[in-house]
Amino acid sequence: MQNRIKNTLFRKTDKRKQDGQVEDLNIHGARLELLGDSVGSVGVIVAALIIYLTDYRLVDPIISVGLAIFMIPRTWSIIKKSMNILMEGTPSNLSYEDIQKAILQIRGVTGIFELHIWCITSGMNALSAHVVVMDTECSNRILQDINAVLEKRFKISHTTIQIEGYHPAKDSKTQEY
Ligand SMILES: [Zn+2]
Repeated sequence: MQNRIKNTLFRKTDKRKQDGQVEDLNIHGARLELLGDSVGSVGVIVAALIIYLTDYRLVDPIISVGLAIFMIPRTWSIIKKSMNILMEGTPSNLSYEDIQKAILQIRGVTGIFELHIWCITSGMNALSAHVVVMDTECSNRILQDINAVLEKRFKISHTTIQIEGYHPAKDSKTQEY
């Protein structure tokens, strides 16, 4: 049973990775737990065998510490990703500059301000921005174009975009993340 769960998890993870998408944090965590359990079980059996055969009892703490050292770097990446979500940081797989450029390239767009990109949960990103346009009568078309680009190229589907004919230049280039 545990094997079947493990196989499913591994297969799912591999598939996601091929798609170039971010691995879901929950699956990453579950996979790590299975890895820790499996390696831990093997460690206990090996330690028991060595103690049984040689009576060298120090092997038990040595293997425990070894396991801990083995798991720390694997846990670290989960801690880093979780922290990024909690701190609402820019998702590591997205480039702030690329998104800014992509929006500026849309016909009718003359400026972009207050661009914020953050991670709601792993695999789900949100964006908000003020977009200055040449002709506010084209707002609807431009908004659709922006959302299409964000969804197709950057997989961002949660957006809040304010279309403006003018934006005070003072907070340009402040690049708030
Ligand atoms: Zn504005």
